Amino acid sequence: MNSQLAWADTLQFETRAIHAGQEPDAAAGAVITPIYQTATFAQTAVGEHRGYDYARTDNPTRSALQECLASLERGSHGLAFASGMAAITTLLLYFKQGDHIVVADDVYGGTYRLFQRVFTQFGLEFSFVDLTDLTATRAALRENTRLLWIESPTNPLLKVVDIAAVSALARARNILVGVDNTFASSYLQRPLECGADLVMHSTTKYLAGHSDVVGGAIVTSHAALYERLKFLQNAAGAVPAPFDCWLTLRGLKTLALRMERHSQNALHVAQWLEMQPQVARVLYPGLASHPQHEIARKQMVTPAGAPMYGGMISFIARGGKAVAEKIAATTKIFTLAESLGGVESLIEVPAAMTHMSVANSPLAVDAGLVRLSVGVEHRADLIQDLSDALESVQA
Ligand SMILES: *Cc1c(COP(=O)(O)O)cnc(C)c1O
Repeated sequence: MNSQLAWADTLQFETRAIHAGQEPDAAAGAVITPIYQTATFAQTAVGEHRGYDYARTDNPTRSALQECLASLERGSHGLAFASGMAAITTLLLYFKQGDHIVVADDVYGGTYRLFQRVFTQFGLEFSFVDLTDLTATRAALRENTRLLWIESPTNPLLKVVDIAAVSALARARNILVGVDNTFASSYLQRPLECGADLVMHSTTKYLAGHSDVVGGAIVTSHAALYERLKFLQNAAGAVPAPFDCWLTLRGLKTLALRMERHSQNALHVAQWLEMQPQVARVLYPGLASHPQHEIARKQMVTPAGAPMYGGMISFIARGGKAVAEKIAATTKIFTLAESLGGVESLIEVPAAMTHMSVANSPLAVDAGLVRLSVGVEHRADLIQDLSDALESVQA
């Protein structure tokens, strides 16, 4: 397996997305990684096997996915999970009672819920901090801080955290840095190269990219951390099914193509939205008006070095909740739905949908906020759809 990784490591991102971990199958020469739909594997002698004994521990379809994910993040080890939340849950099992974790104050609602309402019960301590403020971040670090949890861009406010700067703060104190890289995807941001210790994804979103599978992943280059997480992956057992691994592998093959189109479409839509009278403010890292645009321009770059800002846009509708909800209910191509990162465009109102669970918390969002996951449809159709919806609120 490692020789394959070394081979693929010399190749460009687009090529690795298609080939890393995916040599033609040894048994029949299948060009596409087979779905090893089996729970167990025949052993060659008592206690001896071909690398696989039981499918919770390892499965060849999952191994291929894990290798490809590691390669795309430029890490040496990948681990796949049944969902993004399963990946984060397994990571938290690495820590002990009394450990302190500093978390971006605008994290994914499900992450906040898991930290605050589940893991505090087991004695983990969390501080939610604006990680775009380095002074506040430094002040939040304690003697018992073990992990700094970054999300960038954040959901739904699209704040951009300077991963290199925050990682440097943590490194000086031996604190692990983890980055939820779901919004940017491995094509537009590689946190390990910025100094982070591990990267996490909800592969449900851009990596799989077709809204047809739920999954998660962690990638790291720390051998000891990997060994412990690999132990926990098997011990806790929140692993993805072989078919889900296969769907994710299929999605990954077009990640570069999709992210370029998502980014082009979103920039076009964001610039258009900024000119609409019904829109009070547009949040998109690619706009010069974005408070961390300069950081994004350096951090959100393709492997070839071109800045691109992904497919997620949030905007605040003038007129608040009622107007936001009317717009979201009126669009036709932008489907009213949670989730993001698929080829099809989606629209949602975070305060009433994805962020309901944080309504009475510091993470509560403006009721007039609308979030778009801009797909890869033709941009003229997307603009027309939004234009019709905005006109309907004016009437
Ligand atoms: C969706 C999401 C998650 C959770 O992933 P699931 O696959 O839904 O469990 C975590 N972080 C971010 C940023 C997400 O968008």
